[in-house]
Amino acid sequence: MVSEISCKRLSIGIVGGGIGGVAFAAALSRDPGLDVHLFEAAPQFSEIGAGVSFGPNAVRAIQLLELEESYRRIADSSPAPFEDVWFEWRRGSDDAYLTASLAPGCGQSSVHRADFLDAIVAHLPKGVTHFGKRCIEVQQDAEGATARFDDGTSFTGDILLGFDGIKSAVRDHVLPPTQYGDLGPFWSGTYAYRGMIPTKQLETSMKAKGVDKRLAVVPQMYLGSDRHILTFPVRQSELINVVAFITDRTTPAPELAANEAWVNSVTQDELLGVFEGWGDASQAILSCIPEPTRWALHELPEMPFYHRDRVLIVGDAAHAMLPHQGAGAGQALEDAYVLASLLTDKACTRQNAQQVLAAFEAVRHERTCKVQRTSHEAGDLYEYSASDIGDDETKLSSELETRFDWLWNHDPQDDVIAARVHLGWEVSSLTAFA
Ligand code: FAD
Repeated sequence: MVSEISCKRLSIGIVGGGIGGVAFAAALSRDPGLDVHLFEAAPQFSEIGAGVSFGPNAVRAIQLLELEESYRRIADSSPAPFEDVWFEWRRGSDDAYLTASLAPGCGQSSVHRADFLDAIVAHLPKGVTHFGKRCIEVQQDAEGATARFDDGTSFTGDILLGFDGIKSAVRDHVLPPTQYGDLGPFWSGTYAYRGMIPTKQLETSMKAKGVDKRLAVVPQMYLGSDRHILTFPVRQSELINVVAFITDRTTPAPELAANEAWVNSVTQDELLGVFEGWGDASQAILSCIPEPTRWALHELPEMPFYHRDRVLIVGDAAHAMLPHQGAGAGQALEDAYVLASLLTDKACTRQNAQQVLAAFEAVRHERTCKVQRTSHEAGDLYEYSASDIGDDETKLSSELETRFDWLWNHDPQDDVIAARVHLGWEVSSLTAFA
């Protein structure tokens, strides 16, 4: 046993130390009344060398989680005078400007994933994290919830949170496949080719092709039929993050070849072949990626619910989505803030913790499912395949100008208030982790 039910107000086990689990554990650890344990399968924290972008709602969650200072030190934004630009949208075949999506006061706020994880890990006190703990089974009874790990150890706490990503083991306990069928990840039909380019190299490549080098540093999306490419700067504009997408829409339920890995290294020729005939900017970008990786993008179906008594799934474990609105990690951070606000309240006790998980689900389920759904639809829109819009660029542009407002204008403090109302708790004195 790693730990037994402790004498603190509440003991909490978190399975999974990605962006969501670490941010959540850091927030809980500020409350001395809580006994917090984070279990990560890997031998150390790790993130891939790629960028992640955050909308205004996610940046708000980062502020509320009291991680803003760490974030601002490493975050990039769109360069002046394009500070409010989330993305400029262009036709992929000839780079023609279509429109821009503006996020006033935020623009494109992005970080290198590994830098961000390092920055938030620094907020975890010693003793909270346990590495090499792959959860293989979850059980619960009237006394507590238990996670069993592949090294033969286990942990029992009052509640257990599954922040263990798209392949979540905790999800199988909350929604047993024998009862609810297969609710596991499925391939979306989209491959994403990823690469990082030194900014100076991309500027030179663009100049050689007669492309305005501003396009290297101002976030861009190049759109076309069944394909699109995005670029945005990370690491104080030292690097440009590139993701190039291609989607198979020939069948409603595309399947990966048997035994095909989700991530593969591929040749540059394959990538260039996919975008043959595209404009100069796209050619300039892709010619700078000698060793692309190709990701088969998976997503989850919408879950009917997220919690079962003492156990709750959160972040990608509950609502993994396609990256087309840059929103998955943002939803994990919103989850982390809302749940941490409720669990750190003195009104939350061993006796009512299950009701708190239920209140969390009640206020978060609809929004997270909508973000999942609209993220999938956004891919159709960018790739000239949205119903009623297709390749009509006038309609497409006007949709892109306002499409993200509902997602970005959300304040997760409103979710906390709604959950408190649900629980019958006082709402007037709400402050972050009061
Ligand atoms: P994860 O980051 O998946 O972390 C899960 C953790 O749990 C991992 O550390 C893992 O090792 C651990 N784990 C797994 N199983 C177990 C187990 N059984 N026991 C113990 N530990 C376990 N989102 C954005 O907001 N903006 C973007 O720009 C963006 N771009 C993206 C681009 C691409 C190509 C992709 C694929 C995704 C993108 N996302 C983006 C989505 C984002 O990466 C995820 O939503 C986010 O990482 C989810 O965080 P999480 O903490 O819930 O899960």
